[in-house]
Amino acid sequence: MTTLHDVTARSFDPSAMPTVTMVGGGQLARMTHQAAIALGQRLRVLAENPGDPAAQVSPDVVLGSHDDLSALRTAAKGSHALTFDHEHVPTEHLDVLVAEGVNVAPPPQALIFAQDKLAMRTKLSSLGLPVPAFVEVTSPADAVAFGDEHGWPFVLKAVRGGYDGRGVWMPADAEEATALVTDQLAHGVQLLAEAKVDLKRELSAMVARSPFGQAATWPVVETVQRNGQCAVVIAPAPDLPEDTGARAETMALELAAGLGVVGVMAVELFETHDGELLVNELAMRPHNSGHWGMDGARTGQFEQHLRAVLDYPLGDTTPLAPVTVMANILGAAEAPEMSMDERLHHLFARMPEAKVHLYGKGERPDRKIGHINILGDDVAEVREQAERAAHWMSHAVWTDGWDPHGE
Ligand code: ADP
Repeated sequence: MTTLHDVTARSFDPSAMPTVTMVGGGQLARMTHQAAIALGQRLRVLAENPGDPAAQVSPDVVLGSHDDLSALRTAAKGSHALTFDHEHVPTEHLDVLVAEGVNVAPPPQALIFAQDKLAMRTKLSSLGLPVPAFVEVTSPADAVAFGDEHGWPFVLKAVRGGYDGRGVWMPADAEEATALVTDQLAHGVQLLAEAKVDLKRELSAMVARSPFGQAATWPVVETVQRNGQCAVVIAPAPDLPEDTGARAETMALELAAGLGVVGVMAVELFETHDGELLVNELAMRPHNSGHWGMDGARTGQFEQHLRAVLDYPLGDTTPLAPVTVMANILGAAEAPEMSMDERLHHLFARMPEAKVHLYGKGERPDRKIGHINILGDDVAEVREQAERAAHWMSHAVWTDGWDPHGE
């Protein structure tokens, strides 16, 4: 006879498995936590609010700001690695943490190239990597001279702190450039100008690298932007010439090794009409262009990031289907009356193949509140399904006029 209470069983000691701290409580931390659960770990998050996407689901939350050194210290205490769901932690705080023995991954000397677009452009061009023409802008005259030399409109960018197209402007003429630059400089924003690339499309090459030096790439994907932010990702990028894909993956591997990256990194690329690749920016954290891999690759970016920062062997990145399309669920201009829960019921009823990821965020126009992954064989078909599903979740409207209550 067995007894219900086994006196020999020991309760689980959380310290038996590593703890990783992630700075930032957004959806990237939430999905990293999801991967941590499967690995028997827990993810501690430094979140600003208890309602943040990751703070809702992690039992180990430190409330505080990424700008506050004491909050960072508290969050790092006893943790095996400190990593990020955004780029905004001041470098001087990270240097202090490293000096105090914290395992910051990626290390600040690598992370700087994801935080500071001017440092990144300067470093990449010194490495001989292809980047658009650029210059630092410290006065309206700098901007006007750049526009006159490289053509209007050009691209004006905040050197730090931009995301999802915030901090990117395309002034059409000298008057607009002067007004923008005057205003931004008055607010203490450091600026750079770069040539507007006549791009065919945008690509992303994602790579993970461990301190041991092991590295693994995923196939290069196409990212479709709307209103300056990612809306759809197609994996792998359709009709990408084999040598272009190989060039992008090699670039990502060399950059990861050359910069000493630890964790995952997205290399955002512009593909020009004549097949040239230019680096747009680097993200040293899980990235929207890697969400497809949660369902579409043997190892997704969130698990891979944990493996990398903890120096485990990396996982197999092989795709599980000929094509995976990820479509972001973006907040509608006006949130639909139908609840998110009811929308989900209807979606499941119509599209049992859709893999849904919701972030626990309130609906605001254009805000990333979730995403849909669909796997399949035919790019056009899978893309249509994924976009239709995401649009339904955002707007409670089927783009093909389908009526759930109809015959
Ligand atoms: P963020 O940090 O906000 O993501 P990016 O630098 O990636 O900013 O720019 C946002 C988007 O603006 C890009 O995805 C691209 O569509 C467009 N863009 C940025 N730089 C250029 C450029 N030099 N030429 C053409 N388009 C650009």
